[in-house]
Amino acid sequence: MQQSTLRILKIGGAILDHLEAFESVCQQFANWAHPKILVHGGGGRASQLLEQLNIVPQMHSGRRITDDDTLEVVTMVYAGLLNKKVVGHLQSLGCDALGLSGADLDSIRAHKRVVKDVDYGWAGDIDTINTPTLSALLSLNIVPVFCAITHNGNGQLLNTNADTIAATLGTAFADHYEVELHYCFDRPGVLLDKNDDDSVISELTHQVYEDYKNQGIIEDGMLPKLSNAFDSLSQGVKAVHLGGAFNLGKGTIIK
Ligand code: ADP
Repeated sequence: MQQSTLRILKIGGAILDHLEAFESVCQQFANWAHPKILVHGGGGRASQLLEQLNIVPQMHSGRRITDDDTLEVVTMVYAGLLNKKVVGHLQSLGCDALGLSGADLDSIRAHKRVVKDVDYGWAGDIDTINTPTLSALLSLNIVPVFCAITHNGNGQLLNTNADTIAATLGTAFADHYEVELHYCFDRPGVLLDKNDDDSVISELTHQVYEDYKNQGIIEDGMLPKLSNAFDSLSQGVKAVHLGGAFNLGKGTIIK
């Protein structure tokens, strides 16, 4: 039997901070057929609030360490303000969105990242996705909207990478649906030249990715994003699209 397509869209923080991009991406997402899931990242608001509260960010190699105070603030901003902003906007477009953290309906369980060289604090690595409950929502044409907060099942909330949440949702549903993953960020795709938005690489293979990585063409946030993307493809996801807010489904494709 032909499986139906599940589309999962992850929107990056920069999209949330840019009104025109945010509205465009929500409108396109609202027009997509069911079933669909949205996952959103953080944006600048949490950093701004941490600063206003005089909470000094603890960093390691450019990555934020989630201490107790930071976890409280990111939970307030991600699971509260931003999640409700996304849900409210989708509802205004007729899209029946339901805002969730991983704790809601026990939908995403994780554990505190195991300390090797660095203790990242309350950073969570995902263990399980509650596919039966989420499938029930999808069958009612409810649209889950996830923020990047999960839980460990013992009352501890955890800050979890939104790209990884999207990829893990994709692989968890790969037996039930043809899954398409869409990563939307502040560039029109993966670029050959980061200073030239017209240099979008239309299709990327793993070998070419490795070459570009070694040449420094692909770097920073794009490295874990693509590494997640290739992992999810090897675990049953049908295709991954990477692009900007104004061209969902275009940009770069990997399959
Ligand atoms: P998100 O908004 O989803 O969190 P990231 O900041 O993690 O996105 O990753 C997107 C960023 O990756 C882009 O803003 C860009 O600065 C960087 N990047 C690095 N290499 C490339 C590349 N070759 N093409 C496009 N973007 C790249």
